Amino acid sequence: MRTRWRAAHVLAHQDGRHVLLGDGEVVWEDDTLLYVGHRWDGAVDEDIDLGEHLVMPGLIDLDALADIDHLLLDSWASPDRGPGLQWSHAYAGRSRDVFTPAERSAVREYALVQLALHGITTYMPIASEVHSSWAETFDEFADLAATSRRIGLRGYLGPSYRSGVNVVRPDGRRDIVFDEERGRAGLREAERFLDHVEQLDDPLVRAALLPCRIETLTPELLRATAELALRRDVPVRLHCLQGLQEREAVHRLHDCTPLELLGSTGLLDTRLLVPHGLVIDRHPDVHGEDRGDLAALAGVSVVHCPQTSLRYGSVLHSFGAYRRAGLNLCLGTDSFPPDLIRGMDVGVHLAKVVDGRADAASAEAYVEAATLGGARALGRPDLGRLAPGARADLVAFRLDDLRDGVLDDPVRTLLLNGTARNATHSVVNGRPVLVDGHVPGIDTDGLRRRAQSLFATMRAAYGERDVRGRTADELFPPTFPAFVDPAP
Ligand SMILES: [Zn+2]
Repeated sequence: MRTRWRAAHVLAHQDGRHVLLGDGEVVWEDDTLLYVGHRWDGAVDEDIDLGEHLVMPGLIDLDALADIDHLLLDSWASPDRGPGLQWSHAYAGRSRDVFTPAERSAVREYALVQLALHGITTYMPIASEVHSSWAETFDEFADLAATSRRIGLRGYLGPSYRSGVNVVRPDGRRDIVFDEERGRAGLREAERFLDHVEQLDDPLVRAALLPCRIETLTPELLRATAELALRRDVPVRLHCLQGLQEREAVHRLHDCTPLELLGSTGLLDTRLLVPHGLVIDRHPDVHGEDRGDLAALAGVSVVHCPQTSLRYGSVLHSFGAYRRAGLNLCLGTDSFPPDLIRGMDVGVHLAKVVDGRADAASAEAYVEAATLGGARALGRPDLGRLAPGARADLVAFRLDDLRDGVLDDPVRTLLLNGTARNATHSVVNGRPVLVDGHVPGIDTDGLRRRAQSLFATMRAAYGERDVRGRTADELFPPTFPAFVDPAP
């Protein structure tokens, strides 16, 4: 099966870099790109003229929303309410799965459909264990893999695991409660999932080790993770360098920095992805200057999530400095909305504030991170680029709406004036995923109603975990008081 897309703008790949191709054509056969250029003269089975669109490599999201929206609830907490959003110490002793397996499956489907609608073609899901009794399970991920294959996205999957959980003590102090055997069992489930992926033998499902946050894993479990990753040649993604609380916890428990812990447990020798990567020596709350951390991170892929970071009040110091130091920067959405176009735009402007110059991070540097950077992190030179021989993973963003404004450069117009909702079509491994703005076979109205009801379940459960026993309505007051009917 041979397909051709034609579009006014194509972000092609030539001589090792992205290039802009006007009035371009992209032709693929089965899962592989055959031709990118102006004049394909062979036959095609399907021919689609997209008109005023930008066709580019599919977006790679390596800290991908895989859950229902929680940022809506937890990104604006006061110092008084903030601790209430964590597990209380008491809840850790009686934690439960907030969702049934069927509900969990629906949450996953909802999240994956969101990714597809936002032009993402390759994803690595965030660990979402807040609503679990401990961490993620093999069964849950076997189900997620099935959903992912049905939708047709390219997933790097693995159940999360941890030896401990962050809690709040009755006096308000933060602590971590450990259950080391549960951590070891989690790693065994993750290893079993590696076998499962091998048996599936589907190019759309690849395995990864996705443990939780660094402070919640014992050095023993971190070391075992590194060994397994090297033995099975799979990437590891570990949330770390994320916040001061993490840095303090690692110092208290292991008398070193999170970065030193990565080194001493062998994780720096793996294909390591570090989401956020914010809190290193350069960060103003640490030393405010480079004392060697960037050099120590060389070879690591930092999964930068500009939109989520901003919404939780933090920023990378800085995109330009990390890039100049030779770190591989790739992107993640991390939370709702999974909109990497907005994420890239936010990142471009945050870099201006941090570095104090308008060219601190260019639109093209961010687009490279969302495509080539992601591919590099996964060790996949066949992804993130539109060139013959690469996998047919591509997305088309419309630019023909009056609200998109005028065009000078299609990439700048998309980032400055558009959002990922401009995505109309996508293809993964040669197969259509997004068609005319819809994911075929998905009842989006039904999914929306289901998600709203699952959100209510999730919201109510915050009340069970709050250290002070407040209800969800007390933890999440509305923006404005409710209207009161005047007396007749
Ligand atoms: Zn994250």
